[in-house]
Amino acid sequence: MDLTKAELDFLKQKGLTKNDVYNGLGVKQKYWMSLVKKEGKPIALGNPCTYEKHRLKWPSGHCAQCNPRNIGKGFSDRFSQTKYIYIAGSLSHKVMKIGIGDDPEQRLAVLRRQPYAGVPDWQLLFHMKVPNSARLEHEAISSLSKHVVRLGYFKDGGKQTAIEVIKCSYVDALKAIAKSAKTAESDPWQSPKVGLYEFK
Ligand SMILES: [Zn+2]
Repeated sequence: MDLTKAELDFLKQKGLTKNDVYNGLGVKQKYWMSLVKKEGKPIALGNPCTYEKHRLKWPSGHCAQCNPRNIGKGFSDRFSQTKYIYIAGSLSHKVMKIGIGDDPEQRLAVLRRQPYAGVPDWQLLFHMKVPNSARLEHEAISSLSKHVVRLGYFKDGGKQTAIEVIKCSYVDALKAIAKSAKTAESDPWQSPKVGLYEFK
């Protein structure tokens, strides 16, 4: 996906990056409008607008550059919330989960009880409180996208949604977070057991 300098500048102004852009080029607008939301992206690259041939669009389909104030409010709020980002790991399935929440210990108890993705032995390996938590989560998981695997589905109001976990070692998950994290509001916490989660 090639973005022009003007497009990159616009994204930067909005606190977004190239990774936030859903590539809807060559896809009919009504299709990418549903896909962009499903993928949780705040902005899409679509067909040029009538007036200035801009290509960046809000999920509503409106030209982002002609309507710069029309930022998806829900997205910007959610992306910028300060929360904990955490890594949980499973020895039985050799997978990682990167997630965010207000209370990682409690979140882990819920994952184990469900059990999330059918994995019974989630252990909390790392957490750190960060601003822009959802953005960081999104960037970290995107950078590991080739290791993402599906482990089952959950029903979401009748709709089935894939449960995705990451087939990688702890260090890979940690590196993905470290690469995107710019600031933290708490010291990172790391489990003394992380050495067990280096899968070959
Ligand atoms: Zn425009």
